[in-house]
Amino acid sequence: MTDFSFDTLQVHAGAEPDPATGARQVPIYQTTAYVFKDADHAARLFNLQEVGYIYSRLTNPTISALASRIAALEGGAGAVCCSSGHAAQIMALFPLMGPGLNIVASTRLYGGTITQFGLTMKRFGWGCTFVDFDDTAAIEAAVDENTRAIFCESISNPGGYITDLDAVAKVADKLGLPLIVDNTLASPYLCRPIEHGATLVVHSTTKYLTGNGTVMGGAIVDSGKFDWSASDKFPSLSAPEPAYHGLKFHEALGPMAYTFHSIAIGLRDLGMTMNPQAAHYTLMGIETLSLRMEKHVANAKAVAEWLEKDPRIDYVTWAGLPSSPWHDRVAKICPKGAGALFTVAVKGGYDACVKLVDNLKLFSHVANLGDARSLIIHPASTTHRQLSEEQQVAAGAAPGVVRLSIGIEDVADLIADLDQALTAATA
Ligand SMILES: *Cc1c(COP(=O)(O)O)cnc(C)c1O
Repeated sequence: MTDFSFDTLQVHAGAEPDPATGARQVPIYQTTAYVFKDADHAARLFNLQEVGYIYSRLTNPTISALASRIAALEGGAGAVCCSSGHAAQIMALFPLMGPGLNIVASTRLYGGTITQFGLTMKRFGWGCTFVDFDDTAAIEAAVDENTRAIFCESISNPGGYITDLDAVAKVADKLGLPLIVDNTLASPYLCRPIEHGATLVVHSTTKYLTGNGTVMGGAIVDSGKFDWSASDKFPSLSAPEPAYHGLKFHEALGPMAYTFHSIAIGLRDLGMTMNPQAAHYTLMGIETLSLRMEKHVANAKAVAEWLEKDPRIDYVTWAGLPSSPWHDRVAKICPKGAGALFTVAVKGGYDACVKLVDNLKLFSHVANLGDARSLIIHPASTTHRQLSEEQQVAAGAAPGVVRLSIGIEDVADLIADLDQALTAATA
């Protein structure tokens, strides 16, 4: 299946006609448990000697189809789906971390991720140091003997900045650490982080993969390329696991070690499981991923170019614009386009931003992105509200900017809506 091109994989990967009924579309397997053939079959499943379905907290055929499809689109060895993007981040770190250990993460992240990593993770005893990922020396300086992962976004929220994944992967390689890339804003259509050296890719499938603002979900894709046994830093994967009679995941399962661990230990014990209805909506969404991303990018380009020329605007951060400091990275990291999420600084600052949001008719004021509909939010008064002003500026969410998520509507209608709302906001 992996020999097929992207547009074929987004429709077919992970989904054969249903073996029981011939159903061509992936059925929603709305079941909690699966009947064992006999006691020996049950024992083999519980010992991980045979792969099969036991209980839907661990695996479910609808969700497995989605996981296989996302793994194929990202070029990974395996994938695990879970209940949200935030769950995916905790699940991704769980096999690597323990009390007293830390990660080094970019300052330019989704606001919720900065809060999750900077505050909530501390309660597990997991530390996080945030540095500017354009400064690879700073990443290296922030790593210590307790660091277990390096984390960034390919295209980053809220500014649509682009991370030089190859440069960051080189640092991670040199230090023997896995690089985790949140690829939510790019989707695998615009960027494939594993090809740039990422070990793990995480997604909020809530966004572009589903693409219609219906269901929450997350995914972790493993490249299958990291040597978990090269040091004693990753005992969950390299050392004997007491819950499975001393099984060493990496030794026994090779490139599938991380994926199996995430199911057999992660989902089993953390329970951050996706539901089969959500997996079905996301499978439907992914079928049109490339078509939607092309339109998202084309619309973003037209809107960003129009805004940049408008005298009511200070600046626009879309990396596809030649004025962006990250413009040079587009060709290398996301050659099909710089995504469709960016910020706009409105003359008149905080007050003008609030008025702009209130006067738009077609754009919806919501805390979401990657919907077919165009969306807007003022980060400083919402998603990035918990951060200090210094953190807001470092994250690209200064008080005078709004974040746009450009949808797939007719672009002339989007520009007309922005035009009338800017007139009202700057009157
Ligand atoms: C939305 C988002 C998340 C969190 O995902 P949820 O599905 O909302 O839990 C993480 N990272 C990025 C880049 C996001 O946009």
